[in-house]
Amino acid sequence: MELEIVEQRENYVKFILSGVTPTFANTLRRMILSEVPTMAIDEVIIIENTTPLYDEIVAHRLGLIPLKTDLENYVRPELCSCGGQGCTSCEVSLTLEQNGEQDIEIVFSKDLLSQDPKIVPVYPDIPILKMAKDQKIFLEAIARLGRGLDHAKWQPVSTVSYKYFPCIEFNLNNCTFCGDCVGVCPRDIIKIENDKILAVNVINCSLCNQCVDVCELDAVAVSTTGSDFVFIIESTGALTIKNILIEALKLLKEKAKEFNVLVDEF
Ligand code: SF4
Ligand code: SF4
Ligand SMILES: [Zn+2]
Repeated sequence: MELEIVEQRENYVKFILSGVTPTFANTLRRMILSEVPTMAIDEVIIIENTTPLYDEIVAHRLGLIPLKTDLENYVRPELCSCGGQGCTSCEVSLTLEQNGEQDIEIVFSKDLLSQDPKIVPVYPDIPILKMAKDQKIFLEAIARLGRGLDHAKWQPVSTVSYKYFPCIEFNLNNCTFCGDCVGVCPRDIIKIENDKILAVNVINCSLCNQCVDVCELDAVAVSTTGSDFVFIIESTGALTIKNILIEALKLLKEKAKEFNVLVDEF
């Protein structure tokens, strides 16, 4: 198995994972989407809301604000020693109190005050609602660890996808350099230069097969190895991508161990 990082920015990574089966690639994707826990607002106690936005909409918007997550000091309520009653190991309280002092005022995610300075909104400038002068919002929001399996608000990523790594080959005995495949390729992969045909930036090929379809001489073939994958992960910022991968693999290992124990009991 090999891993090669192709592109890395804050909360974004593109890498090639080689020497694995499609099942493993998909399992990794599913573990990230469904099992890696993050913090999200799970309960909202509205004390006062005279803004035009209904309580339910405010609560829904709060739930979707990504929160920085600390997996070392918090556990999911169902796994907590308090039995899910709520304690400092499984819950964080955030409060929001804002009075409209101007004609139009926007309440942002940074206005949420957390009891734990480590569990705060990832982005401070997410608008929650607009209020007019003399309107008021006062609420307490309880954040808990949860999994994407239970609600998308707990997914650690906005996207995790993979595709087969493309292989593009030309049969130079058949090719007439007519350029038809160059014209149809939506990703500018195929180039003809000085009577040579070549594929560039192959990783960007979408495997659409338009080049194959347009070539009447069967001079181009698009295939995959079946064991090399291009992964793209975009984190919500709740966890770093490295931590998301480490946690996904740790959970996968735990599941495999659990399965092993069950098999031993046959
Ligand atoms: S369409 Fe076929 S023949 Fe024409 S340049 Fe492409 S590979 Fe060669
Ligand atoms: S499969 Fe599609 S994207 Fe890939 S080289 Fe052919 S036309 Fe371009
Ligand atoms: Zn608890």
